[in-house]
Amino acid sequence: MPIATVNPANGETLRTYEALGEEEIERRLATADRTFRTYRTTSFAQRARLLRRAADLLDEDTADVARVMTTEMGKPVRQARAEAAKCAKAMRWYAEHAEVLLTDVEPSAADVKDSGADRVLVRYRPLGPVLAVMPWNFPLWQVIRFAAPALMAGNVGLLKHASNVPQTALYLEDLFRRAGFPEGCFQTLLIGSGAVEAVLRDPRVRAATLTGSEPAGRSVASVCGDEIKKTVLELGGSDPYIVMPSADVGRAASTAVTARAQNTGQSCIAAKRFIVHADVYDAFAERFVAGMRALKVGDPLDEDTDVGPLSSERGREDLEALVDEAVESGATVLCGAERPDGPGWYYPPTVLADITPEMRVHREETFGPVATLYRVADLDEAIAIANDTPFGLSSNAWTQDAAEVDRFVRDLDAGGVFINGMTASHPAFPFGGVKRSGYGRELSGHGIREFCNITTVWHG
Ligand code: NDP
Repeated sequence: MPIATVNPANGETLRTYEALGEEEIERRLATADRTFRTYRTTSFAQRARLLRRAADLLDEDTADVARVMTTEMGKPVRQARAEAAKCAKAMRWYAEHAEVLLTDVEPSAADVKDSGADRVLVRYRPLGPVLAVMPWNFPLWQVIRFAAPALMAGNVGLLKHASNVPQTALYLEDLFRRAGFPEGCFQTLLIGSGAVEAVLRDPRVRAATLTGSEPAGRSVASVCGDEIKKTVLELGGSDPYIVMPSADVGRAASTAVTARAQNTGQSCIAAKRFIVHADVYDAFAERFVAGMRALKVGDPLDEDTDVGPLSSERGREDLEALVDEAVESGATVLCGAERPDGPGWYYPPTVLADITPEMRVHREETFGPVATLYRVADLDEAIAIANDTPFGLSSNAWTQDAAEVDRFVRDLDAGGVFINGMTASHPAFPFGGVKRSGYGRELSGHGIREFCNITTVWHG
């Protein structure tokens, strides 16, 4: 894939970039390695000052960087601004909390005595340069979610961003430089995916994190496995959204529209499979379909657009193929499912019912504004369908019944269980999945400790 900005709203190539050559990659790896040796000795207060400055600069740049994101990958510009604000918030959160999250831990006095030590403590030391392989769907957030904790922990970052968001990638490098981080603390490598393996195998790169598709995750994890390097993987999701009879059906349906169509449906934590109890199925379906139909599809730079184009022509083809296969296999179209004529990679908000397990939409991730509806007879059937997926990122359930809540929290096989709401990430809460959604956690104390050398310090 060429490294280029191609506007998804009209297919126009706006800028292309040369990939870095071997010599330049070597220079950057050497800089990362050199910078880490000194940056690791800085105090939390120094790092926090720089990260807060980066957050302030991002706030000042919001309108401009939002337009860049929208032009590169097509997200509605209002949502792009919200993404920038969320990034600034996460940076401030880690600036404030990292020191406490990484404070030395002392085992119990009894265990210390039992070990024969005078004193024992566990210290979280940084690992070194970490490579982040990141996707285009939240081109700022996915990177900041990695960079803010990594930099606060004393690591340095190398970013291999998706090839269709090079301007956002370069903006991020510039942001950290302007904030005053020493050169080499955060560098963007404009490289294609074929050049990632050599970087991962370089001994100066100590770990990797990837957000993206399963094949990309498998590839990075295989190389890192071979090199015995730590990885965190955040891959796809096909999150269930269960609605039980006691739920507030109106609120469940309007939230479902946002949960499915945010970011033009291109979100790993978007609710994708809507599993509704037969008692409220018709009422939910009617409101949900009406809400999906009412979304304004159009130019993502328009302030009142809800759904923009998909990020790439291939993304639209993949999505359309999933829908077409389901319809040919007997799914009922409640709305959408017709690719519009005209420029841009648009696809309408679509709801499909009468889904069967053989259909690809049942097993695969629909990365666009396409929802599948299931009618279920009871809680057990709801949980069975919810878990009948290779993914396990997050899950949503609507009910007022405490016993049902207990069952969902016990039995939904996912990294998140959101009751009476939609999945959203927050800097203070761990984020990540099980099964083929990946492993490891981002955000919160769990996220910042993923790339630490958890060191036992024993005093005799
Ligand atoms: P990819 O997984 O291909 O891209 C994500 C990142 O991984 C990009 O930086 C990409 O680089 C890089 N990459 C791809 N293949 C490799 C590889 N073999 N080794 C190292 N790095 C690699 O996602 P796509 O954009 O192709 O989207 C395909 C599907 O992936 C979507 O339909 C969706 O299902 C899922 N996806 C999930 C995301 C999430 O948030 N969990 C985000 C994006 C996609 P390059 O751009 O240069 O190829």
